[in-house]
This record gives sequence, structure tokens and C-alpha cells, in this order.
Amino acid sequence: MRDKLYRFMQGRNGMDELARMQSWLVLILLLVGMFTRIGLFSFVALILMIYMYFRVFSRNTSKRYEENQKYLNFRYNRTVSWNRFKKRMGQARDYRFFKCPMCKQEVRVPRGHGKIEITCPKCREKFIRRT
Ligand SMILES: [Zn+2]
Repeated sequence: MRDKLYRFMQGRNGMDELARMQSWLVLILLLVGMFTRIGLFSFVALILMIYMYFRVFSRNTSKRYEENQKYLNFRYNRTVSWNRFKKRMGQARDYRFFKCPMCKQEVRVPRGHGKIEITCPKCREKFIRRT
């Protein structure tokens, strides 16, 4: 039985990170559908499940790999921006953040120094802001 399954899965995409996330999403949607008794959730869960199994059993592994890579990139970027946001919140009491009008580089300056001239560390543009 194990051997049969192994042979069946050979050359197919299998469970990747994207499929794993989708199966969690399916589970959550099913639970929400059960509790709220809104049929739409179960319907979306079903569609998502079909799509997930389509990807898992797909033989076009390069295309599936690409999709998975896209998802991983998206997840990475989200984590990075979330961490940046958290860090910013931690510093919000002591610092102010400005965007350079020239190159959009973020500049961090300490609070409570009144109006000061800020020099962009990247492009050397000078601009005046109230801290
Ligand atoms: Zn700049």
C-alpha cells in the first residue's frame, strides 16, 4: 500500500508549503462555515480543497514550484514588513520617522529637538522637519 502510494506520487508535486497553507485555510473555512452556518464558507473551502489537490497531484512540477515560490516570497515580505512595523511601534515614543522627499529613504530622528534640518543618509538631500 505504501509502495503503491509512493509510485503514484512519483513525478507529482506533492505537499508543498502552499498546499500546507491551503489545507489549513480549508480547515478554518470549514469550521467557520460550521459555526456560522453560512454555506458560502463551506463552498469556498470545497473549491480551495479541489485546487489544493489539483496542485498536489499535478505533474507540472515546475509550474507548481513557481507558484510555491511566489507564495513563499509573499510570506517573507509580509513577515519583513510586519517586523519593521513592530520595531517602529517600539521606537515611536523616542523617534520620529520621515521619508526623504528625493529618494523616499526612511530617516529616523530623535524626538523633541524642535525644527531641525535632516540630511538624508542615502542621497544627502537636506529637508527641514519638526521633531
Ligand atoms: Zn534621500
